[in-house]
Amino acid sequence: MSDTSYLDWPFFEPHHAALARELDAWAAANLAAAHGPDVDAACRQLVLQLGQAGWLRHAVGGTDAGGAHDAIDTRGICLIRETLARHAGLADFAFAMQGLGSGAIALFGSAAQQRHYLPRVADGSAIAAFALSEPDAGSDVAAMACAARRDGDAYVLDGEKTWISNGGIADFYVVFARSGEAEGARGISAFIVDAGTPGCTVAERIALMAPHPLARLRFDGCRVPATQRIGAGGQGFKVAMATLDVFRTSVAAAALGFARRALDEALAHARSRRMFGKTLADFQLTQARLADMATRIDAAALLTYRAAWERDRGARVTRAAAMAKLTATESAQAVLDAAVQMFGALGVVSGQPVETLYREIRALRIYEGASEVQQLIIARELLNRPAP
Ligand SMILES: Cc1cc2nc3c(=O)[nH]c(=O)nc-3n(C[C@H](O)[C@H](O)[C@H](O)COP(=O)(O)OP(=O)(O)OC[C@H]3O[C@@H](n4cnc5c(N)ncnc54)[C@H](O)[C@@H]3O)c2cc1C
Repeated sequence: MSDTSYLDWPFFEPHHAALARELDAWAAANLAAAHGPDVDAACRQLVLQLGQAGWLRHAVGGTDAGGAHDAIDTRGICLIRETLARHAGLADFAFAMQGLGSGAIALFGSAAQQRHYLPRVADGSAIAAFALSEPDAGSDVAAMACAARRDGDAYVLDGEKTWISNGGIADFYVVFARSGEAEGARGISAFIVDAGTPGCTVAERIALMAPHPLARLRFDGCRVPATQRIGAGGQGFKVAMATLDVFRTSVAAAALGFARRALDEALAHARSRRMFGKTLADFQLTQARLADMATRIDAAALLTYRAAWERDRGARVTRAAAMAKLTATESAQAVLDAAVQMFGALGVVSGQPVETLYREIRALRIYEGASEVQQLIIARELLNRPAP
């Protein structure tokens, strides 16, 4: 395990440190093997593995519904993502998507929806997905066009969703669509759509530089019972943003995990690589680089666990979560780049840990709100405060 002194920070309770240590040992014993070329099969396997070992219970809020705690424990989720990301990016992805895909149900779902979906998410027998983005509505979520027309006791969905993680292997999708209660963000609702519902199809599978299942979905007259709507009609934007407030912080934690692993790899390499009669670590240029990596990691960790702790206290964390995601993902990219540089040619060889991490980190600066969107959120929160 890398340096774990941060587990003593006052943001955590004793059970958090125990959770991180226990998972670290489990991951070392169970995630060492390569995932193999079939990413769908690997993800299904990881979801089952994480479910059977009990880790997915932490992705789900509500003990009645199979969750580990009464409510979503943001610090637990962040520690799990950080630890899994340090061991295996795909395992972090599998865990994160069970949380993101079921978060809206845990936060806003009816008791019946929670009973039906959450226990299966928690034991790994159902795979979840979160379908918000569209070809012409990514950063500008409120521009979404996918429509949900009320028809008696059902809604009929028409339109497209794209960049949907777990698209093609999910058992259900939480889909956001324009239900027409008002213009813009106030006219969106959230629905649970079971895979295989007539009219819901996978239009395209999309290959990524760091592979995970991803798809464009098509809805053609897809009839969903009104009981599958999450929360009130027109509340969908709020549902999406509240879910993202939890999981945006956890994206920061995943970035932290990638960065910590890169620092561990870089330290080991610097100590062992000999050149000019010394080790790479003997050179002050290397020491400056290592110091910068470690400092960026600690700064990112402080912002990440501040946001997680504030959310668990019941505070509004829009600004803190945006600061955490912006800093942790941008810092991790810089840390990864420095690690690759220290490895020389070895750093760009396919399958080397730092090469894999370098590809894995890139998307985190784009999804769940690109870095520029996080900057706008932070600035908006500052400017909306009354002048002193
Ligand atoms: C690997 C991966 C997995 C994903 N998984 C999911 C998923 O499961 N569910 C889901 O709904 N979506 C998912 N997404 C989609 C993701 O949330 C969007 O890609 C993201 O919101 C950006 O939208 P976009 O790609 O349309 O880019 P655009 O909105 O076209 O933005 C392009 C770029 O413009 C810049 N930009 C944005 N706004 C501003 C601004 N105001 N000023 C200046 N510059 C700006 C940013 O650099 C941004 O990257 C995933 C994306 C990726 C890459």
